[in-house]
Amino acid sequence: MKDLTCIIIGGGYAGLAALKAIKEKNRGNANGRRIRLVLFDKQPGHLRKLRLFRPTTVEEEIMIPWKDLVLEGFEFVQGTVTSVNSVEKRIRYIDTQGNDARIHYDFLVVAVGSIVRGPDPDQGGIALTDQQAAADIRERWRDNMRKAADETNPEERKRLMTIVVAGAGISGIETSADLAIAMRKEAAVLGLNSSDTSIYLLNAQERLLPEGPEKVGRKLDQALNECGVTILHNRKALREEAGVVTLSNGDCLAVGLCIWMIGLIPNPVLRGMGLPLTPDGQVLVDECYRVQGAPGVYSIGDCTRIVDPRTGKADRMTCFEAGMQGLRLGKIVMADLEDRPAPIHQSPKSNMDYFNIGLGQNGFFWIRKWGLDMVITGKIPGKIKKLVEDYASMLR
Ligand SMILES: Cc1cc2nc3c(=O)[nH]c(=O)nc-3n(C[C@H](O)[C@H](O)[C@H](O)COP(=O)(O)OP(=O)(O)OC[C@H]3O[C@@H](n4cnc5c(N)ncnc54)[C@H](O)[C@@H]3O)c2cc1C
Repeated sequence: MKDLTCIIIGGGYAGLAALKAIKEKNRGNANGRRIRLVLFDKQPGHLRKLRLFRPTTVEEEIMIPWKDLVLEGFEFVQGTVTSVNSVEKRIRYIDTQGNDARIHYDFLVVAVGSIVRGPDPDQGGIALTDQQAAADIRERWRDNMRKAADETNPEERKRLMTIVVAGAGISGIETSADLAIAMRKEAAVLGLNSSDTSIYLLNAQERLLPEGPEKVGRKLDQALNECGVTILHNRKALREEAGVVTLSNGDCLAVGLCIWMIGLIPNPVLRGMGLPLTPDGQVLVDECYRVQGAPGVYSIGDCTRIVDPRTGKADRMTCFEAGMQGLRLGKIVMADLEDRPAPIHQSPKSNMDYFNIGLGQNGFFWIRKWGLDMVITGKIPGKIKKLVEDYASMLR
């Protein structure tokens, strides 16, 4: 009997979890037909998005070649998928030579993720969008520090040693902590006064991580202060121009660099893919991740609007939720292939009842259990965070 071809578009956290789950649940075949798994990605390896901020301070490789992952038994095609023809069951893609190509699927998983939201072009600054932006940020602040070492005007020296991070989600928090620690070290090496370095983290809300308890937010403030980060709550950056950041309350900060970390948006490539979308640009699926009106097509991860039918709650764009969806998809696909009722989506019970945030080599871990809040800081949560990230990226 002819093989069944399962194509997965996107080897991010959702795509990798789906690949693993489909392989394990179906054990390589369905109703006696072998399942051929094909992973498509525009990049030559898995991008560890959770560690995107790391190259802003050190040279760290965050693109992992597919062969270095624990996953086996799949083919990889590097190409940018541009559209899905769900009537003919074909996808169209541009290969690495720039050729327009097509390939047939029997079932398809769309997991093309999200991109980092950028500021408007006239807002200045730099957004942490990809590895190149991370490397540019590292070059910029290190160059500023070298200039500061030769600068005789104390005000200008201070400006060169100041960074604003606009956006205080988990990625903004982790980026600002890493930068504060690295800048202090660099200042010492260059003979500058480490306490002259300033990192301002702008938080549009009243406190950090408002989904968690207030006292935990305060502890996180304190942990960040100890790293050298000053948090300005209820403040947004409006624009950066000629080394001055204007804030929403009218204040101005003289800075050497302004970094935007203002969240994620669904991958814009979806607009041309021919799949049904929400007004925000996420793929519309049912409670089993099946794309509406496209038999055999599933969609998960940041690019998909997934709602728990029992609570009406939509999943957020996080690695954790993307991974859980991928794991459930293995069971759904198996059930659909065998014509059985499939499990339906369920939000993680209380997805903000814990968080673990990296602060340099250390971490900040909070969990609420039996109504009690527990916070652990220091090296252990830092190590746990790294282990979880390695697991999500399926490193060997
Ligand atoms: C700086 C930063 C820090 C973050 N920190 C956290 C955190 O601490 N905790 C947390 O839970 N979440 C965090 N997130 C969010 C998390 O990274 C995302 O929720 C997660 O990456 C979603 O996984 P995904 O597989 O849906 O999408 P992605 O990881 O975006 O993967 C999509 C994949 O699809 C590929 N692709 C895209 N378009 C095409 C195409 N046309 N053709 C072929 N391939 C394509 C991409 O190359 C990529 O490999 C962070 C995000 C950023 C940017």
